[in-house]
Amino acid sequence: MPTDDSQPTYYRASLGLMKEVSGALAADYHSALITHMRANGGVFDYPAAGLSFQLAKEFGFCYGVDKAVDMAYEARVKFPGKRIFLLTEIIHNPRVNKRLVDMGIVFLSGQYATGLTEDAITAEDVVLIPAFGTSSETLARLRAKGCILIDTTCGSVVRVWKRVERYAADGFTSVVHGKYDHEETIATVSQARAQGGHFLVVRDRAEAERVVSFIEGSMPAGELLAGFHPGACSAGFDPARHLQRIGVANQTTMLASESLEIARVIGAALERRYGREHADEHFRSFDTICSATQDRQDAIQAMIAGTPPDLILVIGGYNSSNTGHLLEVAMSRCPAYHIQDAGEMLDTARIRHLPQGAKAPVETRDWLPGGELRIGLTAGASTPNRAIADSILRVLELRGVNAADAMEAIES
Ligand code: SF4
Repeated sequence: MPTDDSQPTYYRASLGLMKEVSGALAADYHSALITHMRANGGVFDYPAAGLSFQLAKEFGFCYGVDKAVDMAYEARVKFPGKRIFLLTEIIHNPRVNKRLVDMGIVFLSGQYATGLTEDAITAEDVVLIPAFGTSSETLARLRAKGCILIDTTCGSVVRVWKRVERYAADGFTSVVHGKYDHEETIATVSQARAQGGHFLVVRDRAEAERVVSFIEGSMPAGELLAGFHPGACSAGFDPARHLQRIGVANQTTMLASESLEIARVIGAALERRYGREHADEHFRSFDTICSATQDRQDAIQAMIAGTPPDLILVIGGYNSSNTGHLLEVAMSRCPAYHIQDAGEMLDTARIRHLPQGAKAPVETRDWLPGGELRIGLTAGASTPNRAIADSILRVLELRGVNAADAMEAIES
């Protein structure tokens, strides 16, 4: 690997070119409508169409996504003549990923992959690591190639890694509340593996209850393991040995209330099994939900408290974990639809959306009632403001309002 300090080969923060890329970023993702709404308490009324829109207090791009997207744009400017590879989607938003494809960035996996693999990377190339991070094994292989690495891993994800490393170093198995096949969780559990530690990924409270049953002796090891995908636990995972000392962590974008509940039930089971006086020897827990996820979940909770809107649009990529959890909160009090972009509102009768927990979008009829409507809006941490504004303009359009008229109304 080159060692010339004037030619760094590993970047973890801004490449110092924000002035050069800020215009392009604003043109691609900024929205005058959302800026207007922020300045007016998050509200945009359009009485002529009987519509009132209300934004959640926190929504859209988080600090980690901002940083990752900024660094990708900076990389394109800094290395105009080099091939730039991206390990997988930089964040879970189709608009952003498609824009990077247009900029000539080559995806190595996921829906935008070109067929090229890691084998194609040489020391002359630039490689972007997405905001979710990558496994310690992949990072080691890339370092060995000597290519230029632009690591956009979010600091909040690194914080979880440190926790999991600590658990492994202290002989605790990491039980991670997350999705075993999510990029972030794949990277997180690799930190335990790198320390010679073990892990088990539990997706929800029901899977955590299986762990509780095993700890309490009411479920045999074979039955416990049969309920988990092989990728959800470390190689050689032996429940009898590896569920005696447990440290709980979570994927940063899970539903915070569920993560806390999972830690509570596992901690209580270990205490019953080993006694309160030995609790610290058998159980550790650390809430690793990131503050951006927490703030967005709290904001939608606040929106539905009291009199909820007539319906809520939750905007974000269909593979975005945190967007799915915003839907889960929103739909507890009123009709709510998770849409990837404005085009999913097909007409006043039909909307294509991803129901909670579903694998693929479905079409629902009669989603937009007539008469006066108060519509709530929120968006996942990887959704640009432009996508939210487009959704508002689409609803107006479905009520017969021209987008240009709407923007004129804002400007006046
Ligand atoms: S959702 Fe949280 S962990 Fe993920 S990129 Fe944003 S701030 Fe970082």
